[in-house]
Amino acid sequence: MKFILTILLVLVSLLALVLMQAITASIVIAESRDNPDKPAGNVVLIIGDGMDDHQITIARNYLKGVRGRLVLDEMPVRSAVQVLTIDETEPTRPRFVADSANSATAIATGTVTSRGRIATSAREDQDIQTIVELAQQAGMRTGLVTTASVTDATPASFAAHIKFRRCENPDSMVFMYYGRLADCSKDQKKNGGPGSISEQLAASRLDVLLGGGLKHFTVNEEGSSESVERLARSEGFHVIRTKFELSNAHPGKRLLGLFSDSHLAVRLRGENGRSAEKPSPGLPAPMACENNPAYKDTPSLKLMTQKALEILSHGNGSGFFLMIESASIDKQSHQRNACGSIGELAQLDETLAYVLKFADIHPETLVVVTADHGQAAQLVPSDSLFSGRGIPVYTPGSMVRIKMPGGGEMGINYATNEFVAEEHTGVAVPLYANDIGKGLFRPFITQPEIFNIIRSFLGL
Ligand SMILES: [Zn+2]
Repeated sequence: MKFILTILLVLVSLLALVLMQAITASIVIAESRDNPDKPAGNVVLIIGDGMDDHQITIARNYLKGVRGRLVLDEMPVRSAVQVLTIDETEPTRPRFVADSANSATAIATGTVTSRGRIATSAREDQDIQTIVELAQQAGMRTGLVTTASVTDATPASFAAHIKFRRCENPDSMVFMYYGRLADCSKDQKKNGGPGSISEQLAASRLDVLLGGGLKHFTVNEEGSSESVERLARSEGFHVIRTKFELSNAHPGKRLLGLFSDSHLAVRLRGENGRSAEKPSPGLPAPMACENNPAYKDTPSLKLMTQKALEILSHGNGSGFFLMIESASIDKQSHQRNACGSIGELAQLDETLAYVLKFADIHPETLVVVTADHGQAAQLVPSDSLFSGRGIPVYTPGSMVRIKMPGGGEMGINYATNEFVAEEHTGVAVPLYANDIGKGLFRPFITQPEIFNIIRSFLGL
């Protein structure tokens, strides 16, 4: 009896301890604003571009096995997010499939806009303040990390304002894009605007900006004989170009890392570079995923994140906001390259593991993982249910059959169109958060609510 009482006492004490910790975590942010001795809140927002549940399931099956668990799967908070998009000329009319520009704008600003827009409003073309700018005004540090060009739609929407996402450098402000005129002339400096995306990022107050996109910084600044990279240096950025320089970078300087001309190389590819193929006359032969030789000198998303967290947290009592994007889950899916998407989801998952360890040591850190929109890949039977009926039955799309490390084959189909690139889908996307996010996210929210939740968490 005494033994049972002792056990009960221990259990009750443990429960009290857990409750105390939960209460402490939830009030730590409120206190931090009033009490300079308490650490301020941090937010790490991880965006898997195009990372819908299909992409996650495909990657989980390949990386961990059908009964396995990703780090993502251990996150204690889970919600579903409705993606919202409006029409450019008729902003009251909804559009049901987003791009990365309007969806990142919704997350970064809390405002729904039209496709292609970077933190600007549909039709009126007004600049909309972003969470990064709000955090900077409050004296917090800010950072953006991506495997795409740093000028690509997702990172740009957090720190730049422009009418069209492809106006990435001073030489591409007015041009033809798939038969339509892309016109960012109103944003040009000669017309009183802030310039192209790379010029805006170079002049930004970001503490750390890492990814690809060097080619957008080596061109000359509008109306100048100096490059945009030179502008970034004169604005106080330490500019680096290699994985070696990144490994050796120390906190204390604002850091701009441009590790490739355009988007960073991806980790995995299909056997001998194969992508999904049209099943004619028969199903494509099964294939393995292999390491992409082009990835060799590319800094991993995890390494870039480690450095960003060092820079943002070193001697910082005011908190920070960091957005991390695994961009090519989406880009590889556009190219019908399932192995490529799997490798980039693996990069996101191992980066998340590192960020969660950081949050263990800095418990005032809210970690949120979500996607911006759905993508084309569908997990389908590796041969059709109806193929045994004597008539060949194949997908009208393109298909890949991946040889799985644990045995068997996984069929992945791409069938949004017959053009050179697949398109996004309009499905709601998942959202995950760590312990401190408990109670902040309802089970079903809309994308702009992510902005509101992060803003209120940071007390902005
Ligand atoms: Zn895309």
